[in-house]
Amino acid sequence: MQPLKEKILSEGKVLSNEIIKVDAFINHQIDPLLMKGIGSEFCRRFSDTEITKVLTIESSGIAPALMTALELQVPVVFARKKKSLTLRNHLYESKVFSFTKKEVNHITVSKDYITKEDRVLVIDDFLANGQAADGLMDIVEQSGAHLVGIGILIEKAFQEGGKLLREKGIRVESLAKIASLEDGKVLFVD
Ligand code: 5GP
Repeated sequence: MQPLKEKILSEGKVLSNEIIKVDAFINHQIDPLLMKGIGSEFCRRFSDTEITKVLTIESSGIAPALMTALELQVPVVFARKKKSLTLRNHLYESKVFSFTKKEVNHITVSKDYITKEDRVLVIDDFLANGQAADGLMDIVEQSGAHLVGIGILIEKAFQEGGKLLREKGIRVESLAKIASLEDGKVLFVD
C-alpha cells in the first residue's frame, strides 16, 4: 500500500537491522487519515469473504483494527495484556512473547465477545516472528470461531512469522513488506 510505504520511508526510524520505529504515525502518534486508508484497504482485500468480528491486541493494533471494523461494519475486540479487575473469569487466555519488550504477556479476551459462530479477521501493526499472531489465533481456536485471515500493516519479511503462518495455510495480507533494514535503510519486498 503506497501511502503506508511512503510514510515508512519519510517518518520511520531504523533503530537496528531488526527494528524500525514508527512512533510518528502508528505506535505513539497516530495518523488518522492513514488509518482510514488502511481500514479501506483491508476491507477491499478481504471483500471476498464474510467477517463478523475483527480481533487485535492492545494497544497499537486498536487504531487500524477499529478503522477496518468501521469499514466492515462489525465490532472490534482487543485482547488485553493485563487482566481487568472487572473481568477475572469466563476468559480465553494465551501467552505472547513480546518481540520489542522481550517479556511474556498473558493476553485475555472475554468469552462474551468471540463465539463459535464468529468469522474473525485478526489485525496487528507488525509481523516479526509471529508470536502475537499465534496468541491471537490460539484465542480464536479456543472460541471455536473461524479464522478468516490476518491483516498486518508492516511485515518484516526477513523474519520468520509470515513464512510460518503461510506454511500453515493461513491467509496473511500485509500492506508493507520490508525485505531488509540493513545499514539504516528500508528496502521493500517489491
Ligand atoms: P511478533 O509477535 O510477530 O514477533 O512481533 C510482532 C509484535 O512485536 C507487534 O505486535 C509489534 O508490537 C512488535 N514489533 C515487532 N517488530 C517491531 C518493529 O520493528 N517495530 C515496532 N515498532 N514494533 C515491532
